[in-house]
Amino acid sequence: MQNNSVDIIGGGLAGCEAALYLASRGVRVRLYEAKPKWRSAAHKSDGLAEIVCSNSLKSTVQTTAGGTLKNELDALGSRLLEIARQNSVPAGSALAVDRDGFSHAVTQAVREQKNITVVNEIVQSIDASSLTLVCAGPVCHDGLARSLMALTGEESLHFYDAAAPIITAECVDMSRAFFGARYGKGDDDYLNCPMTKDEYLAFYDALIGAERVIDEAVDVFEGCMPVEVMAARGVDALRYGPLRPVGFRDAGKPYAVLQLRRENTRASLYNLVGFQTNLKFGEQKRVFSLIPALKNIEIVRYGVMHRNTFINAPMCLNSDLRLKAYGNTFVAGQLCGVEGYVESIATGLLAAINAERMLRGENTVVPPEQTVLGALCKYITAPNVNFQPMNANFGILPPLDGVKKAERKQAYYDRSAAAIAEWAQNTGVGG
Ligand SMILES: Cc1cc2nc3c(=O)[nH]c(=O)nc-3n(C[C@H](O)[C@H](O)[C@H](O)COP(=O)(O)OP(=O)(O)OC[C@H]3O[C@@H](n4cnc5c(N)ncnc54)[C@H](O)[C@@H]3O)c2cc1C
Repeated sequence: MQNNSVDIIGGGLAGCEAALYLASRGVRVRLYEAKPKWRSAAHKSDGLAEIVCSNSLKSTVQTTAGGTLKNELDALGSRLLEIARQNSVPAGSALAVDRDGFSHAVTQAVREQKNITVVNEIVQSIDASSLTLVCAGPVCHDGLARSLMALTGEESLHFYDAAAPIITAECVDMSRAFFGARYGKGDDDYLNCPMTKDEYLAFYDALIGAERVIDEAVDVFEGCMPVEVMAARGVDALRYGPLRPVGFRDAGKPYAVLQLRRENTRASLYNLVGFQTNLKFGEQKRVFSLIPALKNIEIVRYGVMHRNTFINAPMCLNSDLRLKAYGNTFVAGQLCGVEGYVESIATGLLAAINAERMLRGENTVVPPEQTVLGALCKYITAPNVNFQPMNANFGILPPLDGVKKAERKQAYYDRSAAAIAEWAQNTGVGG
């Protein structure tokens, strides 16, 4: 690569993390940010790295996937995580930030970097011939989305995220669930959670009374119907829809049956079929745990319904975050198919690490799959016909053989910490 510069489209979480990394390594960066000329429905301020919704960057506890990912980002020298801590507000074991203070501090850090030029323009097309990081986020400008679609193919860009919750296989009470597909179509692809009439009615009442997310960005959603909206049409609507109790030969006579579908080849994660939802996260846990097999539900990715532009990463992205067909174009942040603030920061950092390696004529790299970041890159780019964005969780990591359940979370953390430290040293990244 002849010139020592990189273009970044989008001054959000991924874009700012990437810009600060590259600039600190002597790379010249042009950081394109559409604000203040144009703002999405989700963005309210003109600052860089705007936190659009909750101010929580989730848990800092080692034995959570969020805490483990944060430790990985520390090992790689993440600037945004450092600035988040400097602007934190008390939130128990979570890292929550003063959103204005955080955005202001990131904007200042970017402005102070002489290697970064901020260009306040709406980028309408991607130049695939020059080294570019596309970090325009889940509510990016339509012109850019069209350009991305031209590079990746029409079927490779999704505009809405209507996702059902994803849960761990481990949390399912198998004494109240059974394997099998309706009418024998498929083997053990589905796990079925039957309900009696009383159990169904208790679940139904809780569902229609539960609190929903009210969000401006949700208004643009026109796709499939949330489970709570379908339920409100009548007490039996779900029993003729996703909970129909038919097609099972040896299951007795259940009144309603929820199906869980495998989310990954290892069958460590399942999604609740037909349960795309707009309920508040706490309400999802409360209401869905009324289904007897899910009384100990452990949700790794909550159901959401909002405008969410993301590429079909399994089809068009390599795990180093470069487009398969255009090796100079990286896609990072929520747009690449991860979900969450910290996940967006992490993929921004990885794209920057790889862009800088390309400038030096070195191969691109991906952290080992024992790390949450490496596992996320692997997950989003593995074949998956029902691809939905994924956030940090232990269910995507390779299993730990022979470790007792009570010790598993700490073991995931320890394994990740060792793997990322070695990787950071080998690749020359981090402090
Ligand atoms: C409504 C909503 C609520 C969310 N709530 C949460 C939450 O509570 N917790 C959580 O962890 N995650 C949440 N997310 C998901 C995600 O973590 C955030 O959206 C996160 O900010 C994504 O980071 P990013 O860097 O990919 O994109 P952003 O932070 O959105 O940054 C993208 C930037 O690109 C700019 N841009 C867009 N198009 C162009 C263009 N054509 N030219 C130049 N600049 C452009 C935008 O103005 C923006 O500044 C939410 C997402 C949405 C849409």
